[in-house]
Amino acid sequence: MSEILGREIKYVGGVGEVRARLLEREVGVRTIGDLLARYPYRYIDRTRTFTLAEIDESMETTYVQLRCRVVGKSYSGDGPKRRFVVEVADPTGCGELVWFQGIKWIEKRVELQREYIIFGRPSIFKGRVSLVHPEIETVEQALSRKEACGFQGIYSTTEKLSSVINVKAMHTIVQNAWNIVANDPAAFIDPLSEELRRRNGLISLRDAIYNIHFPQSAELLRQARYRLKYDELLGVQLTIQARRTARQKRGGGFIFPRVGKLFNTFYREKLPFALTGAQQRVIKEIRADMVSGKQMNRLLQGDVGSGKTMVAFMSMLLAVDNGYQACIMAPTEILARQHYASMCRFAEGLNIRIDILTGSSKVRERRTALEGIASGETGILIGTHALLEDRVQFANLGYVVIDEQHRFGVEQRAKLWTKNQQPPHILVMTATPIPRTLAMTLYGDLEVSIIDELPPGRQPIRTYHYYDSSRLKMFGFLRQEIAKGRQVYVVYPLIKESEKMDYKDLYDGFESLSRDFPLPQYRITVCHGKMRPEDKDAAMAQFKRGEADILVATSVIEVGVDVPNATVMVIESAERFGLSQLHQLRGRVGRGGEQSYCILMSGEKLSKEGRARLEAMCATNDGFELSELDLKLRGAGDIHGTQQSGEAFELNIANLATDTQIMELTRNDAIAILGDDPRLEKSVNRALRTLRDRHNKRERIDFSDIS
Ligand code: ADP
Ligand code: MG
Repeated sequence: MSEILGREIKYVGGVGEVRARLLEREVGVRTIGDLLARYPYRYIDRTRTFTLAEIDESMETTYVQLRCRVVGKSYSGDGPKRRFVVEVADPTGCGELVWFQGIKWIEKRVELQREYIIFGRPSIFKGRVSLVHPEIETVEQALSRKEACGFQGIYSTTEKLSSVINVKAMHTIVQNAWNIVANDPAAFIDPLSEELRRRNGLISLRDAIYNIHFPQSAELLRQARYRLKYDELLGVQLTIQARRTARQKRGGGFIFPRVGKLFNTFYREKLPFALTGAQQRVIKEIRADMVSGKQMNRLLQGDVGSGKTMVAFMSMLLAVDNGYQACIMAPTEILARQHYASMCRFAEGLNIRIDILTGSSKVRERRTALEGIASGETGILIGTHALLEDRVQFANLGYVVIDEQHRFGVEQRAKLWTKNQQPPHILVMTATPIPRTLAMTLYGDLEVSIIDELPPGRQPIRTYHYYDSSRLKMFGFLRQEIAKGRQVYVVYPLIKESEKMDYKDLYDGFESLSRDFPLPQYRITVCHGKMRPEDKDAAMAQFKRGEADILVATSVIEVGVDVPNATVMVIESAERFGLSQLHQLRGRVGRGGEQSYCILMSGEKLSKEGRARLEAMCATNDGFELSELDLKLRGAGDIHGTQQSGEAFELNIANLATDTQIMELTRNDAIAILGDDPRLEKSVNRALRTLRDRHNKRERIDFSDIS
């Protein structure tokens, strides 16, 4: 690194010891390089001046520039509450400026009847525009200042930091830092070759850094952002693609050359329905992997109800046809049992042994399963986390399916890997679709298959949002549906298993439902995570057999439960659920031929985001669309399951939700570059290592080794 970029920040004009310490403590900036690597997160247009009448509530979090005359000065309050208030006016109205600190200093500088340019964040207080601690300068001063152009960067800050270094001071400090490095060629060694830049129409690193801090025009700002995003995403892709190549080189995948008797018999004679086009395509993709000689690592994304189980089953038959064993691991007992039941049904009349193993398997079931897999007689083993136990020893495991992937951590999957000398093929199935861009970063070294088609005859679920005040109307609707012989879920949020409050909600709800839906006409049952597994299963089974009309539950039923006769999903306090969870819950209905409904109950008071989520749910049934929106609302780091993947790259400027196009571009470039020079050893590519290594700094589990 350039010596100048490594210089401590305290030597920059406008900083000094005290501010330097604060900068380091509050935002981790120690050197000039650190400072310049923090890009503004927003820009304000200094050429635009607002009038007081134009300011409204919607502008409360933004910075505005005003031009006003001072019409009054006064003090109010005592002691620590003492403040200095300046009344200002422009031709459209009046407002006030308030200072709590530096009162004396400011008082001397503000003259009655003089015009000032005022800059700050407005709030509306009792109908009046008010700015606390704004920047203020006379019109003459403002005019004499020559800004490069109208844009001024706003840097993220903290409360402490901003009370010492305001927007303008920060701007000055960055400017001073820039002046120190501006003529140091070592500070701007461009990691991208001329060729790469020219081909992608990218400006130089130096121009990009300059314009990101001090945009010379809107166009240059756009180009600067584009260039810096490109660098960042290219670094991500170089990391991912290198791992992918390493994995593929290791090769050594089992080869399943035969499409044998089991698969063919099932396909020709037993298939209970015609496969959808998407199911057929995905089975073909898996099959191609299985004969490639490389170990398969495939992520199968398919919305709830899209028929992933059938794909899993048929591909497992392929493994067994070739003399290998297959297993499928489900996240819950209920789901594992359900898979067991449906796969046994599918396999009737086929010459294949299927066993199940879960944490609550009784002695006999357990022994049967363990012996069967050890001897090789068991073709397919279905289970939960129990499959990971050391004593689970396969004779010849060739294929592993992991259902509802987000429930499993990375390390757990790593354990499955070691169940065999040679790594089995792996299919990870998820119903929480991950937006394409995110999948490309998180699972860039996995192949991705998508089932984008639901089985025919499904009626789209209708979703409505009701306020708690319309509860009676909702009850009326439930009665109608139950009268038609349908069943209903009522789900309560359970944010943390330990929260007593949540169970109170659930039991209060249960009691009030029991009053409104009395026996013997209505039968209600309860199911939640704190119950003993047997009781839980008994309750679920009762509902499944149609012996209960209403199932009151926590989100334990989120994943996979299949009761085609249930047509209504009521979600209480829906605003407390995340989007993907809401979508999962909704997927519990609409599994039969009947019209199904999802009713989202909420209080009247909703946060902006909460409202956006409920509106999105009412507007679309498309899980992919919802996951894109989720990503925008919450940011990538938060998306369900990504924390545990250990793969979330820290991004400074690129946005996974919106920068799809640059992501694809950098992906192709990374593949081309590494194809020609896998270790970045050629002189044109050497500098690219700096981009790549930014993402390799943190210790992490190498995903490509384990899944
Ligand atoms: P998910 O993808 O959510 O795991 P499932 O595999 O549980 O979905 O399938 C949902 C339902 O759709 C099941 O009852 C299954 O039998 C049925 N199904 C799956 N594929 C088809 C198909 N091609 N045609 C008709 N029904 C199907
Ligand atoms: Mg499923």
